[in-house]
Amino acid sequence: MPFADLVGQDLAVSCLERSLDRGRIAHAYLFAGPDGVGKEKAALALAQALNCPEASPAPCGSCSTCRRIGEGLHPDVRRVAPAGNSIKIDQIRALGQEAYYRPLEGRRKVYLIAEAHKMTEEAANSFLRLLEEPPPYALFILLTSQPDSLLPTILSRCQLVPFFPLPLSLLRDKLERELGLARERAVLVAALAGGSWERA
Ligand SMILES: [Zn+2]
Repeated sequence: MPFADLVGQDLAVSCLERSLDRGRIAHAYLFAGPDGVGKEKAALALAQALNCPEASPAPCGSCSTCRRIGEGLHPDVRRVAPAGNSIKIDQIRALGQEAYYRPLEGRRKVYLIAEAHKMTEEAANSFLRLLEEPPPYALFILLTSQPDSLLPTILSRCQLVPFFPLPLSLLRDKLERELGLARERAVLVAALAGGSWERA
């Protein structure tokens, strides 16, 4: 799942490729943009790039490491998501205890935090302490459609990677190609989806 698969997100891809080329990976990234436009896919591709033994610097997408990361089965790549309506302090504490250990197999531990704006106030404060003393092997990728709802002190410690709604023509082509919709139907669905593949 190399970055080339991330259609319609050229700015995000160039931000990430530049970081990788220079070997300067931040401790935390904020992937901000609407739902369903490729943020999770990009986060997994970054986790692959950091751990794939064949990365050059784009990940190969086909080795055992890349495949397991793509399937959510790699021990060094974890995903934290709201339990019910929010991300709770216990979830962040558990993550914090683990994040300071070396990776089990890969080069870098990667934590995806889905819907990061749903952290409770306690969870957010606990997470902030992690960012203030970042674990040396860990990379945090916060995914959010509502960056303004995060603590400013968290925002200021993350490198922003912006994601945008997908262009209508791109959604239309994808609907035709992947779901076999007829042209008029694909145009209609794409228009109603407001740039989100998930909503389409
Ligand atoms: Zn690989």
